[in-house]
Amino acid sequence: MRKPRRTVDWKEYELVKKYSDSEEKLKSFSKEGHLKVALIYPNSYRILSGNLGFQRVFEIANSVSGISCERFFYDEKFNRFYSLDSLRPLDEFKIWMFSISYELDFFNLVDILKKLKVPVLADERKEIHPFVLIGGPLVTINPELFYHIADLIYHGEAEVELKNVLNEISKHLTDGKKVVFEVLRDISTVTVPSLNKKAVGEAIYREVINDPAGSIFLTKYGEFKDSFLIEIGRGCFRKCKFCTIGNLYGYFRPVKVSAVKEKLERALALLKDTRDFKVGLIAPAVNDHPKFEEILDYLEYRNIRFSVSSLRADTINEKLLRGLLRSGQNMLTIAPETGSEKLRTFLNKKISNELIYDKISLAKNLGFKKIKLYMMFGLPDETEEDLIESAKMIEKVSNMGFNEVVVSVSPFVPKPRTSFENLSFQNIKILNEKQKVLKVRLKNVKVNIGSFRESFIQYKLDHLDSQNILLLLKVLEERGKSEALNFIKNL
Ligand code: SF4
Repeated sequence: MRKPRRTVDWKEYELVKKYSDSEEKLKSFSKEGHLKVALIYPNSYRILSGNLGFQRVFEIANSVSGISCERFFYDEKFNRFYSLDSLRPLDEFKIWMFSISYELDFFNLVDILKKLKVPVLADERKEIHPFVLIGGPLVTINPELFYHIADLIYHGEAEVELKNVLNEISKHLTDGKKVVFEVLRDISTVTVPSLNKKAVGEAIYREVINDPAGSIFLTKYGEFKDSFLIEIGRGCFRKCKFCTIGNLYGYFRPVKVSAVKEKLERALALLKDTRDFKVGLIAPAVNDHPKFEEILDYLEYRNIRFSVSSLRADTINEKLLRGLLRSGQNMLTIAPETGSEKLRTFLNKKISNELIYDKISLAKNLGFKKIKLYMMFGLPDETEEDLIESAKMIEKVSNMGFNEVVVSVSPFVPKPRTSFENLSFQNIKILNEKQKVLKVRLKNVKVNIGSFRESFIQYKLDHLDSQNILLLLKVLEERGKSEALNFIKNL
């Protein structure tokens, strides 16, 4: 393994080592595979460690015979990018597999390629360059982003086809990339840009989930500090009009309770003597699990502290709230989206204001000290009245006696593959006017209003086609990131 020579590289090396050393591994993987695969999360270590999908891909890749997969993350100061698993630099790896979740990570992905002098455009890369495979939730939202960058794009959930794809790559890469492309062209959920072959859909795991994704390591530096994360369900049946998850899957796939318990028992056996840990239950709406009460009973019986990734306000109940309090969580987080019941109903999130206030009061009376509200503005058909309703809701909740009220109001981003996919991002002048309506009424409440610019860039990246992405990449190459971010509004 090549050790860093320059001071700046040592700093990078030491940071990766610090995170690597902080990890308590719950599963070990052989490093003997002849084909070195780098699994890259183009965002921070903090976010990587809270991403169960990324950890699942890592497990799957390492289960392929002949492959040894290692994890990498992004930091804008990095130049070499060292592995969390062996501290080897990224340029020693033959396959670079990116798992990409957020729109702005697109720029981080490009930055990694550029820093390691790998041509960003796939058709400029030669056999000596790494094979670039791209997957993750952003591929589902807009695969066009990667059409000129990736050698291969994987669409959908890893369990379905990824093992097969990696297996074929492992078998045929020594014969050349073109051979790999030909071998994989018939897989329906894979895009092979060089053959002009696009996927015809996503790989969706339709079986009952008997082996839920779970943390393979714990760290104090993660978004969910020292938490063992476990998925208890995928997808959502609610179909809120703005939401990709609800519109894409249309149904909820709960994990069998027996599988949840089995996985947690294994984690308990491994961790009970080494550290004080919490369980993080992960699903688009955890309390939509049909046997959620049974999971709560089990956690209480085993005296396991827990937190939840996200909750539906209408199905919050006393048992859940007491469980969270027992676990030391005294902040309730809910997403009313808007204070206007009319607009919320139009969004197909059919929860009344009365019910929202009831659930918040219940939390307050039981002992919750803090509350966090997620809301949006710039929504379709939104009127000044609707904004006033939002301000009233924020004000009312602020006066309910919590020690801390955190309100986040973000500009609405119409997402592809939702009911609003053909809508434009709201005009910035109108958004400014709307922001004023909220601010005038909320002088005494701290409200975090999301960045218009960042939301607009997200919107553009969600909707641009591959030809426009090519133009963007050209500007990025010639004039740098800040110019590219300005240029995006012309596309
Ligand atoms: S917003 Fe939540 S409840 Fe609505 S569809 Fe999306 S995941 Fe389901």
